Amino acid sequence: MKRVTILGATGSVGSSTLDLIEREAEAFEVLALTANHDVERLAAAAIRTNAKLAVVADASCLPGLIERLAGTGIQARGGPEAVCDAARMGADWTMAAIVGLAGLGPVMAALEGGGTVVLANKEPLVSAGDLVVEAAKRHGATLLPADSEHNAIFQCFDADRPERVRRIILTASGGPFRDWTVEAMRSVTPQQAVAHPNWSMGAKISVDSATMMNKGLELIEAARLFPVAPSAIEIVIHPQSIIHSMVEYVDGSILAQLGPSDMRVPIAHTLAWPDRMATPMAPLDFVSVGRLDFAAPDPARFPALALARAALQEGGARPAILNAANEVAVAAFLSGGLNFLEIAAIVADTLARYNPVAPDSLEAVLAIDAEARRHAGERVKDCVV
Ligand code: NAD
Ligand code: MG
Repeated sequence: MKRVTILGATGSVGSSTLDLIEREAEAFEVLALTANHDVERLAAAAIRTNAKLAVVADASCLPGLIERLAGTGIQARGGPEAVCDAARMGADWTMAAIVGLAGLGPVMAALEGGGTVVLANKEPLVSAGDLVVEAAKRHGATLLPADSEHNAIFQCFDADRPERVRRIILTASGGPFRDWTVEAMRSVTPQQAVAHPNWSMGAKISVDSATMMNKGLELIEAARLFPVAPSAIEIVIHPQSIIHSMVEYVDGSILAQLGPSDMRVPIAHTLAWPDRMATPMAPLDFVSVGRLDFAAPDPARFPALALARAALQEGGARPAILNAANEVAVAAFLSGGLNFLEIAAIVADTLARYNPVAPDSLEAVLAIDAEARRHAGERVKDCVV
């Protein structure tokens, strides 16, 4: 039996992970499930999977969790430290599916146990990538990518011969506003932005997909995970989201991973790796897919892409600032305090105003993150929608 923990169990990726685990309940023992404040869903999932521990990060929700778990024998805890403790329970396999840099502490805690840590949560890799990768090495932990593109690259990448890789081709759906004019994008609502054409995801990543900042974050994520130069990672728009990414070798061969746009496919790959497991996915019907299209991304309408590429190339604190400002701007947009185009503008502005030295520790990353959030927050206040 594989002992598993899901950090962010009530979210989109967390729910997809639970679905796979519950279909093969005899193969998995659930140690811990965590959530931010949805105690209803958390308690229900903990009871269904007979988890040992359920943790709610927002400690004010703990009484509600305790009440729902009364008499079940499942332990309930609350607060961010308890989330990290849950990550330290020594699972063989941990799904990191918290959204944002809030997942960094729990990811680092999970790595301490030396098991397999699966990253859906991309923001820690963007802001503190080197530290995360180093910690995995130090503790003998295995990092596996669940992000569909990076999982695709992982499946195609010859890790023994990275020097034979010429290019990584990161595919992007282009999001719901792929063909919109800048003028039309100015007045999009949060509801329009979270309605992704191909994928069903949490609100933050859906907005990131709409601004294409998600692809920018994924560019940085790819550079952290795979030993290739940033200039060797290309982004191509592929509206059907069937090819999840590709690796080109020096001989001109290109390997691609294809599949339906359902996160259960990459998650199942990491759950069973290096083996394979069945999923409920119907076989892909190529005839009904009909065609696969490709286009170049438009840097003028989607400025987030260039911001992310510059942050990656400049390195140091830049990716952490990019991520922090983006988290603040996306939250403001979702709560109606910002128009859609101002998201990238706030990220650009924060990067222009704040340029600290490269962080050399986790504490330094967190300090840069906090300061960048403060800068971005000030700028959000100036925006009147
Ligand atoms: P979501 O919003 O649906 O779920 C987020 C989860 O994190 C929830 O369980 C929530 O309770 C928890 N959480 C939120 N804030 C927290 C905090 N401060 N402390 C502790 N827990 C907290 O998000 P999602 O779409 O599942 O995405 C999760 C991560 O995976 C993100 O980093 C996202 O970029 C990445 N990802 C998601 C998808 C997808 O299809 N949804 C695909 C690839 C990568
Ligand atoms: Mg992705």
